[in-house]
Amino acid sequence: MSARRIGVLGGTFDPVHIGHLFVAEALRVETRLERVLFLPTADPPHRTAHAPVESRRAMVERAIATNPAFELDTTALEQAGPAYTADTLDLLREKYSGDALCFIAGADSLVRSRWRFLDRVAASLERFYVVARRDSTFDQVKALLADLPDSLQQRFEYLALPYIDVSATELRARVAAGRAIRYLVPEAVNEYIERRGLYRD
Ligand code: ATP
Repeated sequence: MSARRIGVLGGTFDPVHIGHLFVAEALRVETRLERVLFLPTADPPHRTAHAPVESRRAMVERAIATNPAFELDTTALEQAGPAYTADTLDLLREKYSGDALCFIAGADSLVRSRWRFLDRVAASLERFYVVARRDSTFDQVKALLADLPDSLQQRFEYLALPYIDVSATELRARVAAGRAIRYLVPEAVNEYIERRGLYRD
């Protein structure tokens, strides 16, 4: 029996939005992933989250509830202290031994923040899928990979998808300004944000 291919979408999900959901679903269908794990990060090494971790987690749970192929994975939340993706992937490899892990990320997340141990990250994956986002290009991503051995560079694959121009930063700013975010996040997430009064200041 061949290994199951499991997608992993890491993020702060502060809040989770339709950009995340569309990328996860399009990748699942187009690259034949058995399921996609939504992996919220605890305390990102490079910035602080705006909503408490329980809220970010609760919003992911609500956002993915209608898709049986989507799953919340709390591995990164259970790690002590800030963790790099390479460390989290070591734990995921143990949890999903026998399966092939495929990471999913927007090009901006590679280009804008420096990834530590990218070689270790690539080595633990079957594929690292990169989708275009904002002004970050595949050429910029390729330049970042230049120091990796060819065998690891080849694990990165670029996918052209319709680009949903939504970011969590912009959503938080809209809420703070009293503007609408309904339909840019799933209905249940919008309700959660309103009920808890998240991102108002
Ligand atoms: P922020 O605006 O706070 O940086 P974000 O919207 O980028 O947040 P994250 O949780 O940081 O959300 O994103 C998790 C992953 O999803 C990253 O790899 C990011 O590049 C990707 N991603 C987020 N939004 C989109 C989008 N609209 N289209 C494609 N990829 C996206």
